[in-house]
Amino acid sequence: MNIEKVVRQHVEMEHFFGGFTPKSKGRIGEPQEQEDTMAVAEKTEELKKIAEQVDQCRKCDLGSLRTNTVPGEGNSNARIMFVGEAPGADEDAQGRPFVGRAGRLLDKIINACGLKRSDVFIGNILKCRPPDNRDPRAEEIISCLPYLQKQIEIIDPEIIVALGAHAARTLLNTTKSIGQLRGQFHEYYAGIGRPPIKLMATYHTAYLLRNYSPENRRRVWEDMKKVLAELGLPVPQ
Ligand code: URA
Repeated sequence: MNIEKVVRQHVEMEHFFGGFTPKSKGRIGEPQEQEDTMAVAEKTEELKKIAEQVDQCRKCDLGSLRTNTVPGEGNSNARIMFVGEAPGADEDAQGRPFVGRAGRLLDKIINACGLKRSDVFIGNILKCRPPDNRDPRAEEIISCLPYLQKQIEIIDPEIIVALGAHAARTLLNTTKSIGQLRGQFHEYYAGIGRPPIKLMATYHTAYLLRNYSPENRRRVWEDMKKVLAELGLPVPQ
């Protein structure tokens, strides 16, 4: 690892994303009306059941290779749900999503939006780590996707932020590139009889770390500002 590059990226990241943190917090994560309370407890319970199913899952070969499953975590009543690709080594070791370098950058982005990690839900297309962080295989996605679909159905977020090509293509059922998909709202179909959920595609934070140009950072930030505006949250300038 090039330590100098890592340190420079860290300092730039602090500067770039830190500079936009708004003073006022949105209402994300705050308890809403009284009658919602039960619904939130039920959502939490349902999500726990899915995590238990994931823990038992052996539908594909990744089940025998994992240290821990990474079902996803966060606010059961989140207005924003982030969806990444698959756990990496750090996530596999801890059983938590986005806890490595890419995760720290995602935390920065969430904080720059005036939010906390506990305000949102963070999940992945795959719940187990592919060996050597290779791309997810079609059969793995087919086996694993129902867990994420169910999580989305339970949380019922207002916006899904798909991080990277794998998440965006899978959720939108398209083969378009992330360059074509990012920066605009798409519709995620959550099932018959349910209204579509807005989906913003943006670059994966791991891609951003590998391609750390001011232009790419600006693009991700512009995408997130659109998400905040859509939710009626303060948009940092
Ligand atoms: N990359 C992902 O796509 N997901 C994680 O949880 C971590 C890194």
